[in-house]
Amino acid sequence: SMFKGLVINSQKNKFRVKTSSNIFLCDVKGSLIKKNQNIKNFLVVGDEVIFEQIDNERGVIYEIEKRKSEFYRKGIGSDSKQKQIIASNVDQGIIIASIRNPTYKANLIDRYVVALKTGNIEPIVCFNKIDLDNYSKIQEDIENYLKKGIKVVVTSTFTKEGIDELKMLLKNKISVFSGVSGAGKSSLINAIIGENTAVTSEVSSYVDKGKHTTTSSTIYELENGGMIIDTPGMKEFGLFETEAKDNFIEDSFSDILEIAKNCRYRNCNHIKEPNCAIKEALENGEISERNVKSYLKLKNSEKSWNGIARPRNNGIIQKELDISDILND
Ligand code: GDP
Ligand code: ZN
Repeated sequence: SMFKGLVINSQKNKFRVKTSSNIFLCDVKGSLIKKNQNIKNFLVVGDEVIFEQIDNERGVIYEIEKRKSEFYRKGIGSDSKQKQIIASNVDQGIIIASIRNPTYKANLIDRYVVALKTGNIEPIVCFNKIDLDNYSKIQEDIENYLKKGIKVVVTSTFTKEGIDELKMLLKNKISVFSGVSGAGKSSLINAIIGENTAVTSEVSSYVDKGKHTTTSSTIYELENGGMIIDTPGMKEFGLFETEAKDNFIEDSFSDILEIAKNCRYRNCNHIKEPNCAIKEALENGEISERNVKSYLKLKNSEKSWNGIARPRNNGIIQKELDISDILND
């Protein structure tokens, strides 16, 4: 008989599929493999599938349900132009921004926001390590994200501040955590799962082509519903070519774009052009320097990506715009 289940593990051509009552080790029907032979990782953690039960432990996957979202990163090496899907149907991405040690970079948060939105995943910003500083340091950034309709949570895994709030945000959702290393991802996951939560699986081991290392992901089921997918792809996850990216940059910086309509030149770069409305708005304090800087950086990196293929980790440093260029004409 046929069942519907969730892929919680992928290993070569075997997949662990979870139903409400059981976990089945499944093969994939030949016709489905054939249909997807050009796609790497065509079946990933988070996929909902229809499978036929063989016995109490085994099954065969017939169909993949349409995905709500895709969490992916740019491919590596010869695959650098191909996106590599890491997980699907992720509802939200928790962007961990450490207030100190290491201090977060606002631009990097914005970059994650755009990337998540591009994958149809809701971004949530988590300012961690609040025990090391006070709110005044992050107030402007918090307001900035709230104004854009992005949820914000402030946490400390030391004092446990904000942990309950974060748990509430994770309830009944499939979440991924992103952030630079040292920001506190492991500590936060530990604080959330405590002892009561089952680690469903040390999930998909897949071979990371460029590096020839085997990496693995873990799925944590939360006691009140929902799960966290902890995948190794997170570190490289950022902003990369997609059709939709443009829109999402604009979407994230709509206030800036609105003002830019008043620049004298339609293709104004808001750097040294005369009668630049962005520059004026900055001088009048109508928009924040932080946002303009972040926007220009994103646009700037987009340009270089759209032009020639430029892997970011190839020692090529993208031209960074200095805000002083904008303010001091
Ligand atoms: P990951 O690399 O993102 O997984 O970060 P870890 O969870 O390993 O944390 C990196 C370091 O930050 C460790 O030394 C943690 O003890 C520390 N850390 C994590 N959360 C907090 C916090 O809320 N406050 C402070 N002061 N340190 C923290
Ligand atoms: Zn301008």
